[in-house]
Amino acid sequence: MPRPIEALIHTAALAHNLVRARQAQPDARVWAVVKANAYGHGIERAFAGLQQADGFALLDLAEAQRVRSLGWRGPILLLEGVFEPRDLELCSRLQLWHVVHNTEQVDWLAAHKTQQGHRVFLKMNSGMNRLGFRPEIYRSVWARLSALPQVDEISLMTHFSDADATRGIDHQVNTFEAITHDLGGERSLSNSAAILRHRTLPLRNDWVRAGILNYGSSPDYPEHSIEHWQLQPTMTLRASIIAIQTLQAGDTVGYGSSYTATSAQRIGIVACGYADGYPRHAGTGTPVLVDGQRTTTVGRVSMDMLAVDLGPVPHAGTGTQVTLWGQGPNGSVLGIDEVAQAAGTIGYELMCALAGRVPVVVVE
Ligand SMILES: *Cc1c(COP(=O)(O)O)cnc(C)c1O
Repeated sequence: MPRPIEALIHTAALAHNLVRARQAQPDARVWAVVKANAYGHGIERAFAGLQQADGFALLDLAEAQRVRSLGWRGPILLLEGVFEPRDLELCSRLQLWHVVHNTEQVDWLAAHKTQQGHRVFLKMNSGMNRLGFRPEIYRSVWARLSALPQVDEISLMTHFSDADATRGIDHQVNTFEAITHDLGGERSLSNSAAILRHRTLPLRNDWVRAGILNYGSSPDYPEHSIEHWQLQPTMTLRASIIAIQTLQAGDTVGYGSSYTATSAQRIGIVACGYADGYPRHAGTGTPVLVDGQRTTTVGRVSMDMLAVDLGPVPHAGTGTQVTLWGQGPNGSVLGIDEVAQAAGTIGYELMCALAGRVPVVVVE
């Protein structure tokens, strides 16, 4: 028998979450963002659940090829555009739409020999200061692109830094609108947090970019949980108990003896550790489901194992199923955000870090 750990990818939950994005933005088309191998889910594994999207947005040309190999004929957007001139050949061949965020990319396009008109998303740096042209020069780049025979259609795009938090998006929306109000072309503005929290904008928003919400993690946790947004976990990490220890008061658990029992206590040793992608920084008290019942971890996470308190689940024994995050038995749910918070990180990082050694099963 292989080591008793596996990850599940829930096709129906992916489809459900995508519907939630559509309900939040009924007038927009929805990019399913599948960068980072579909946020750790695997592009091929997530595809069935996301195929009702209007397009797929990603970073890597190899990932774009994989989406085309799955038979997807619709739009694909390269969110960082091309990285060198010859990438444009693949864009022409596979009809990839690409972001243009710096002057080199415009120069490469101007020198690109193609019969195929390219669809580009011209990115404005409206305040995030990561990618994009500054507002002052945005229109001149737009004019230059418009004059290129290689360019078929220009769409306008920016990215929000604080859609999930108190600063919000108004300052960026205002900058974007002031510069672009009289330019033609479709607009793409919102990420997951903006899709859910800023449902109406005072400007067009033709294409929204749904990432994390599709994967059943709340973009503004802990302010709002997936239950609040009616999202479902799309990745479950589960393993079995492979040993039981009965502690006496004063006994310690694991490396560094970071946990000391204060009274007699049963604990279960679970076949999951940081080499599986479970965060080592999740300390004692991190929530976990044992046979669908909520309990907590005790002691340090080691490479291949972690320990859980079996106080609330006295019937648990060797072989009992433990849900580290996601969907547990009998409709139980442990949001990945809760585990991430206990580890001082965000759901994005945990799902992206699912380790290659964990077998993955796609379920309906
Ligand atoms: C990753 C990314 C998104 C998706 O962000 P989420 O917070 O996961 O919804 C949207 N737009 C751009 C440009 C991105 O890089």
